[in-house]
Amino acid sequence: MKRQKSSKKRVYLDHNSTTYVRDEVVSVMNPYFSEKFGNAGSLHFLGQENREAVEGARKKVASFINVTPREIIFTSGGTESNNLAIRGALKALDKFSGQCHIITSTIEHPAVQNTFKSLEEDGVNVSRVECDSAGVVKVDMLEDLIRSETVLVSIMLANNETGVIQPIKKIASILSGRDIIFHVDAVQGVGKIMVDAKDLGIDLLSISAHKFYGPKGTGALYVKKYTPLKAVYTGADHEFSLRPGTENVPSIVGMGEACSISDATLSLEMERIGALRDKMEEAILKRIPGLRIIGREVARVPNTSSIVVSLVEAEAIVLNLSALGFCISSGSACSAGKGGISAVMEAIGLEPELARGVIRVSLGICNTENDIDSFVEALAGTIKRLRDISPIK
Ligand code: PLP
Repeated sequence: MKRQKSSKKRVYLDHNSTTYVRDEVVSVMNPYFSEKFGNAGSLHFLGQENREAVEGARKKVASFINVTPREIIFTSGGTESNNLAIRGALKALDKFSGQCHIITSTIEHPAVQNTFKSLEEDGVNVSRVECDSAGVVKVDMLEDLIRSETVLVSIMLANNETGVIQPIKKIASILSGRDIIFHVDAVQGVGKIMVDAKDLGIDLLSISAHKFYGPKGTGALYVKKYTPLKAVYTGADHEFSLRPGTENVPSIVGMGEACSISDATLSLEMERIGALRDKMEEAILKRIPGLRIIGREVARVPNTSSIVVSLVEAEAIVLNLSALGFCISSGSACSAGKGGISAVMEAIGLEPELARGVIRVSLGICNTENDIDSFVEALAGTIKRLRDISPIK
C-alpha cells in the first residue's frame, strides 16, 4: 500500500478515526484547486463548471445510499450533519423547548451526545435509551420512552468504538405513523456496509467522507422529502437554503468520487476485510489470555474490533504499539466519560478497571494478511511485557 512505503514498518489499523484519501479521489479533486477554481454560485462559465461538478457529486452521493439528489445537503462533515439534523428539525417544528421531548441513546458519538446535552440545558426534555452488554440499543426501552410530546429520535447506525450495528429498521417501524422525526448518525456505517436510506425507513441520515477514503471536513445530510428542517446557520441560500456558505467544491467532488468507488467495491472489500478481522480475533483470543471482544455475538461492521484487555491500560498498549509502527486507538480516545473511561464502555456496563483496558482495532482497504500476522505478534508481545511490569496482578 502506497501510504505504508517507508523504511520503518507502518501498519495502519485505525480506519474508524480516519482513512487516507484514495488516489483516484485526489485526482478528481485537484483541478478544482487550480484551473477550475470558480464559485459554484457564479453565472459565468467557471462558476457553471463548478455548479455542474457539485450537482454531479450530489447524484453520486444520493445513488450510493439510494435516495434522490434533491435529498442530499452537503456539510462540513458528520458533526455538522448531526447538528443540522437535530437542531434544524427542532427549529422547524417551532415549539417551545419545554414542550419538546427527544430521545437518543447512551452510546452515541459526542457529536450527537453533546448536541442533546446542549439542548437539554436549553430546556428540551431528553431521554436516553440504554444498551445491553453487547452494545445493542434496547428497542423495548426506547418504545417505553416515547411520549405524546416526543418529536425526534436519534440513534446511530454503527457504533464508532464497537462497530455494533443498531436495529435501525426495527426502531423505524416502531416510530412509523407517530409523527416523530428519526435521525440516524450513519458516519461509521456508510462505506463499511451497504446503506439504503430509503429501505431503512428513516428521515435524516448523516455521512462523513473521511471515513471512506474521501477528504476530511466534508459530509452530507440526507433529508427525506417533506421532513421539517431549517438551517441552523444564517447566511445565503446555498444547499436549498439549509446550509449557507460557499460550496467546498474540491471536497464535494472528492466525496462524490469516494461514494462511487465505494459503491462499486464495497461488497468485495468488506468480505476480505471481515475475514482478516475474524482471523485476527481468533488468533489473539487463542494467544493472549484475559481478552474479551465486545459485540462478537451480534451484528458488527466487518472492519472493527473492540478488545477488552485485562490488567493493562489501553493508552500504554497504544503507545507501545505506536513505537513499533502500529496505529490503533484506545476505546476512550474520543468519547471519554467519567475518569477517562469511555462513555460507551460505561453504557455497556464494563467495570471501570476493564474499561481502562479497551483498545479499538479498525481495518481498512490497505491492510493485508501480513499486517494482521505482524500485528498479532506485536500485540501479544506488548501485552505480555506490560503485564510483566504491572504492579496489578
Ligand atoms: N458520528 C460518528 C459515529 C463518528 O464516528 C464521527 C467521527 O468519528 C462523527 C460522527 C463526526 O464526524 P466528523 O469527524 O466528520 O465530524
